[in-house]
Amino acid sequence: MSYSVHVLHNGYSYLKDGVMRANCTCTLIKGPNLVIVDTMTAWDKDVLLEGLAKENTSCADVKYAVGTHGHSDHLGNLNLFTAATHIVGYSVSYKDEFFIHPFETGEPYKIDDSLQVIPTPGHTTEDVSVVVKTAHQGTVVVAGDLFEREEDISDPSLWRYIAGSENPDKQQKYRNEVILLADHIVPGHGPMFKVTEDMKDVARRDQLTQK
Ligand SMILES: [Zn+2]
Repeated sequence: MSYSVHVLHNGYSYLKDGVMRANCTCTLIKGPNLVIVDTMTAWDKDVLLEGLAKENTSCADVKYAVGTHGHSDHLGNLNLFTAATHIVGYSVSYKDEFFIHPFETGEPYKIDDSLQVIPTPGHTTEDVSVVVKTAHQGTVVVAGDLFEREEDISDPSLWRYIAGSENPDKQQKYRNEVILLADHIVPGHGPMFKVTEDMKDVARRDQLTQK
C-alpha cells in the first residue's frame, strides 16, 4: 500500500479590522503509517474528528502526529492522538519519553522509505516538514509555515513580514530546497498547490546567487 495526501481543512490567514485571523491547513497522510500534520486550534476538535471520519479513520489509528512548529494554531488538538508518536518541531516524544533526534544537523527523521520528517527552519528556528512519496501526487511536502500559501511565491512579503520569519535567509534556503524536491506543496495557511517548472527555475537561480 502506498501513500496519499488528504487535506482535511484548508487554512487561511488575513488581517481584518487590525486583527490577524489565522488557522492552519490540517493534513492527513494515508498509507502504511497514518500521519496527521498540524492539528489547528484547540477550538477545532469537531472539524478534525469529522475530517478523519470522512476519510474512514479515527484518532486511534494515527501513528505520528506532527506539529510543524510551536505556534498554537498548529498544535491545538495533539492531545486527541494518544496512540501516536508526537513530533513538534525538533522534539520527538511518546507519553513522557523523549527521543533525541539531531534535526539541527540536517538529519531527516525517517519513518519508512517513502516518508520522512526534515528540518526546514526559518519561520521559527525549529520548523519541520513532512516529505512523502505518493502513488498519484508525486512527492508531496507538507511544509507548515515554510510557505504561507501559494501566493507567497510571487509576493514574498506574505511569508517574510505578514506571517513573520525569525530567520528569512534560512527560510529562503529551505523554500528553494523544498520547491526543487516537491511536485506538490501543502502550505501552512492555504490549499495544496502544484509546483511549476517556473517555480523550480526561480529557485535554481536563487540558489546560484546564494553561493
Ligand atoms: Zn501558522
